[in-house]
Amino acid sequence: MSLDVEKIRAEFPILASEMRGRPLTYLDSAASAQKPRVVIDAMSDFYAAHYANIHRGVYQLSSEATVEYEAVRARVARFIGARDPREIVFVRNATEAINLVARTWGEENIAPGDEIVLTMMEHHANIVPWQMLASRRGASIRVAEIDDSGVLDLDDLERLLGPRTKLVAFAHVSNALGTINPVAEIVSLARERGIVTLVDGAQAVPHQPVDVATLDCDFYAFSGHKVFGPSGAGVLHGRLERLEAMPPFLGGGDMIESVSFEDTTFAQVPQKFEAGTPDIASIIGFGAAIDYLEELGMNEISAYEHGLLLYATERLEEVPGLRILGDAKEKAAVLSFVLDDAHPHDIGTVLDAEGIAIRAGHHCAQPLMKRMGVPATARASLAFYNTRDDVDRLVDALIKTTKLFA
Ligand code: PLP
Repeated sequence: MSLDVEKIRAEFPILASEMRGRPLTYLDSAASAQKPRVVIDAMSDFYAAHYANIHRGVYQLSSEATVEYEAVRARVARFIGARDPREIVFVRNATEAINLVARTWGEENIAPGDEIVLTMMEHHANIVPWQMLASRRGASIRVAEIDDSGVLDLDDLERLLGPRTKLVAFAHVSNALGTINPVAEIVSLARERGIVTLVDGAQAVPHQPVDVATLDCDFYAFSGHKVFGPSGAGVLHGRLERLEAMPPFLGGGDMIESVSFEDTTFAQVPQKFEAGTPDIASIIGFGAAIDYLEELGMNEISAYEHGLLLYATERLEEVPGLRILGDAKEKAAVLSFVLDDAHPHDIGTVLDAEGIAIRAGHHCAQPLMKRMGVPATARASLAFYNTRDDVDRLVDALIKTTKLFA
């Protein structure tokens, strides 16, 4: 079944708004996605009628809030194919999920002289925590190369996997180029050698079906705000036996079994990693976002966005002096580009005057920008609520931009 995109657009209130006196053309979903009415309503209804803290109260409101919160955990587990809801740890975002692993698993498993393998296309969120860990532990970072079209060099990655490699951490989908990495293949290369894997799924979960059981990775991280849910809700998926073997992350309420001044025993997984009051309403909204996506169908979303990517690629090639960066065969609907005479920030500013929201900059991927030989790019990222009209408006505005900077 294909998507009824006009109906979908009507379900996202912000898409009916105007910017700079023009209809909003939102092409920055890779930075953060817009929210459907059901998500906004789920949150305001929770605050208006069901709000209380979780896991503590004996009274009805609190126990109902706890049931709702835990029900979202079970829905997330089903949505990404986790074997058990206890494998789902709620965090604020993908960044926090990766830092959690670095600070817990990393501190116990990375020793002086060990190596952590990353790829050239990582977001800073999947570089900096490992660099910080490596410098604390006396370990080093190795980086797998990509080719000029933005495809990961698997041979290079395999060459880097040696006896000191303890972890391979890599993006499922590149936020700056759209490249979709062969996750199962990379995981299998690592697993054959007993190496742990962490997948940064921030740009994958919103756009394609993800099944962590098939991918077979040890850890999988993503952010709710890119999955059409609220900011403040994110997920770390970890294999149960790994999570159980890890020390806690933050200490405090809710993550303990018993506390005395002499000693503390910790709660079971996943509570062990969820100290303090979480962003309860965001988790509730996140649950509504997952229900919404499941109703549309991730296969349908992925097929629709792929069609739009092909259309946008073809149309952008009509713009004089425009060069797209990243043309992997397996590619998500992300279009990074540069124009001959205009700096990406200037492109962003001119488009903004037309009500078009794109991202301009290094996309938190400075090593990748350096590899591609540019300081920055302009990036249009598409979602299932975008249309060919949005793409046409982008192309018209870019043609106008080229004339301004000619
Ligand atoms: N990883 C990738 C590939 C991303 O695109 C992003 C955000 O753009 C992140 C990690 C970090 O996400 P967050 O800022 O939600 O933690």
